[in-house]
Amino acid sequence: METIESQTIKRIIAKIAETMREQKDYLSRLDAAIGDGDHGVSMVRGFNEAESRLSGLQNNRIGSILKNVGIALTSTIGGVTGPLFGVIFLKAGEAVRDKETVDLDDLAQMFQASLSGVIDLGKARVAEKTLVDALSPAVESLKKSARQKKSLAVALEDAVLESKKGADSTRDMLAKKGRATYLGERAVGHVDPGAMSVYFIFKSFYDAVEIIS
Ligand code: ADP
Ligand code: MG
Repeated sequence: METIESQTIKRIIAKIAETMREQKDYLSRLDAAIGDGDHGVSMVRGFNEAESRLSGLQNNRIGSILKNVGIALTSTIGGVTGPLFGVIFLKAGEAVRDKETVDLDDLAQMFQASLSGVIDLGKARVAEKTLVDALSPAVESLKKSARQKKSLAVALEDAVLESKKGADSTRDMLAKKGRATYLGERAVGHVDPGAMSVYFIFKSFYDAVEIIS
């Protein structure tokens, strides 16, 4: 398995939705500590809508699939969370457009486009206690794996580990972006929910691909 097809992309989105349903309470608890407490509920609402949009989608262009996911998240999740998670999928989709299969080089480019989109929108840098802290190391890992011609499975597994390390690293950070900034020092000791969601996205991606390989 060195390429991923459209059907697999749809299965990955379904897996992300399943994971978000499983992690809903955990994610909302993380958000209750440093935000408004709705993160798990928001992610479930968004990915349920993504799944239902995809069930009605006729074409197999990966760009179109990911665009639909982005629109689902942006249109059903309020606050900054919807646009930020939406842009991850919208930009990844724009990076592949009409392709019906993607390889590791494509994935690295797709997630790099996602990261650039998030940074353009939210202006966060690494170490500001946001989802960028999970996304950025995962993208760096994918790009490095692509350069080293690693297998897709190994590359994804490494990206999952890096995103988890990144998400965990937000625990000790002061927040410089988003609602958690209001808490100042009191945000220290709590993991950022958005960063943890990014880890769950990569973990679900890997798990969905592993099942079929
Ligand atoms: P909401 O209004 O949706 O409740 P929050 O401010 O609680 O938004 O942020 C939700 C998540 O979005 C955070 O956990 C964080 O990971 C991420 N986030 C917030 N602001 C930014 C930003 N400017 N750039 C990148 N990510 C951000
Ligand atoms: Mg919130």
